[in-house]
Amino acid sequence: MVPAKYESPYDGVDRGTDVYRVMDLDLDGVCADYTEAMRQWLVHAGRMPADTYPDMTRYDMTSATGWPFQSVEEYKQAHREAEANHLYATMPVIQGAPEALRRLADEHVYIRVVTHRLFVSGQHQIVVSDTAKWLDDNHIPYMSLCFTGLKDTMHATIHIDDSPANILALRQAGEHVVVFDQPYNRQLDGPRLSAWDETSVPKLMAWMDQWRATDSGK
Ligand SMILES: [Mg+2]
Repeated sequence: MVPAKYESPYDGVDRGTDVYRVMDLDLDGVCADYTEAMRQWLVHAGRMPADTYPDMTRYDMTSATGWPFQSVEEYKQAHREAEANHLYATMPVIQGAPEALRRLADEHVYIRVVTHRLFVSGQHQIVVSDTAKWLDDNHIPYMSLCFTGLKDTMHATIHIDDSPANILALRQAGEHVVVFDQPYNRQLDGPRLSAWDETSVPKLMAWMDQWRATDSGK
């Protein structure tokens, strides 16, 4: 017989974002310099001159000038090859990110890495393993590692992202998003982190505490 009401052992216990400051953290364009990693890989593969620095004002590499792609399929094929050559294990870190994230972890912020890196199928083992290796190698602390493109289905105290589409979708879902500044997202409203530096941690802590108070009606 099914009980009339399922009694959770957690009933009456505060949990989730009621208790924790949960920070959903994007990787590419926020912690890892994907654009520069792809540029370096394409130069190394002989597909781009070394002195070419493509247009950074568009997020989509197939519409930005300077990249050697004529179509989404061409881009995905190059991306797939770069992945197989361990792009995700070797890419440059965005300066200051590991230090700031370690300070946030010390403040008991629950860091949940959320990344859409499985958007090309067929080599997920390489992507997941290289991502975990890169996070360890760069001493970036985190409690969860989520691979999903459906970022707006996740609730957090704060999300940090650089993708205009993700930022808009999250805000439409009622989530609080900090824009990590990149040339391709300058048209979006803030709040905005212009870089990872000594001001990032107090700014993020203040935003999180302000939003938690607002969301709980305090
Ligand atoms: Mg990103």
